[in-house]
Amino acid sequence: MNSGFETWLSDQLQTLKDQNLYKVPKILESPAGGRVKMNGKEVVNLSSNNYLGLANHPKVRQAALEAIDRWGVGAGAVRWIGGTMTVHQELEEKLAAFKHTDAVLVFTGGFTANSGCIPAVLTDKDVVISDELNHASIIDGVRLSAAEYKKSAGWVYGHKDMNQLEECLKRANERGFQKKLIITDGVFSMDGDIAPMPEIVKLAEQYDACTMIDDAHGSGVLGKNGAGTVSHFDLYGRVDIQLGTLSKALGVMGGYIAGSKNLKDYLINRGRPYLFSTGHPPMVAAALIAALEIMQNDPEPMRKLWENTNWWKKNLAEAGFDTMGSETPITPVYVGDEGKAQQMERMLFEEGVYALAIVFPTVGRGKARLRTMPNAAHTQEDLEFALDAFKRVRDKLG
Ligand SMILES: *Cc1c(COP(=O)(O)O)cnc(C)c1O
Repeated sequence: MNSGFETWLSDQLQTLKDQNLYKVPKILESPAGGRVKMNGKEVVNLSSNNYLGLANHPKVRQAALEAIDRWGVGAGAVRWIGGTMTVHQELEEKLAAFKHTDAVLVFTGGFTANSGCIPAVLTDKDVVISDELNHASIIDGVRLSAAEYKKSAGWVYGHKDMNQLEECLKRANERGFQKKLIITDGVFSMDGDIAPMPEIVKLAEQYDACTMIDDAHGSGVLGKNGAGTVSHFDLYGRVDIQLGTLSKALGVMGGYIAGSKNLKDYLINRGRPYLFSTGHPPMVAAALIAALEIMQNDPEPMRKLWENTNWWKKNLAEAGFDTMGSETPITPVYVGDEGKAQQMERMLFEEGVYALAIVFPTVGRGKARLRTMPNAAHTQEDLEFALDAFKRVRDKLG
């Protein structure tokens, strides 16, 4: 062991602790659900992306078990090297039909799909124009690319600010880039608001730019049968690259890029996480096929998700909480002060409710909030219990 290295690690950890940024995952002792056993305590979990309750759905579990019998537990190799299983192919075909695109390529995670796709489709003759609140995996994907993208160079526009986006596009045209790629979250992961896609697509068409949407939190939540933000705004065929995750509403694991057949073929040849990393275990693909089938044919989970979402937002607002203009299940509860938000998280947990405090640098300084996400697995009693806890904790804190 190199003692200098160990000292460096200890110093880094101490700095994180001093800045209140040190994270310790809570221990889950039960499957994902509305109520879970966490750190030895039963709590209502408001911090899960399991929007439709599919992570522990009996049909999805059954599909995974049957796939183990049929295929074993591993893919064996990178898909283009060792061969791609029919179960992987079937998942991609079904996802493409679901997204109304010609083709889909699955990666093992949403993060991986961003870091695989973005650098592959860009060269040093291109520019990326992105919303300032885009997800970390978009930012890392962009950093891996050869394109111009820096905020300091003016290629990041204020959150949903269409005037600034247009300014960027004008400047980009003056500079004569070969490709201009506008990238945005569909549903913003911290604020729960929706990107103004009709305006973004219109500007892209006007200035001859390409568009990419990261719909991690839109798929399964918005649009027809949960087809996502593009479906929600009826923009089929007008967004070049759509990213979705298989880890959130679909309840399992993975990410995908939906678009043209050329885009898929290109990423098979140039998307490095596809080229150099093993495919999903077949049971993952099979579980996802089952989850997708439920999402498309059973309206109940999505109905329940929105019933819970609407109830939760309405009752929080009536109790005087500020939910920051959120339009989706992601419901921030504004606190402001970092220390107070973290104290509120601890007190809520004592009361049997888990809602994560989100503080700087994930969000701006002085904009701390508790991030709550009702989902289809919550019962009315769970949400009433959580609301009462929020009120009690607020009253105690003043
Ligand atoms: C969660 C998330 C991802 C990453 O997805 P994983 O499947 O968890 O790797 C990418 N983009 C956004 C906007 C996300 O919220």
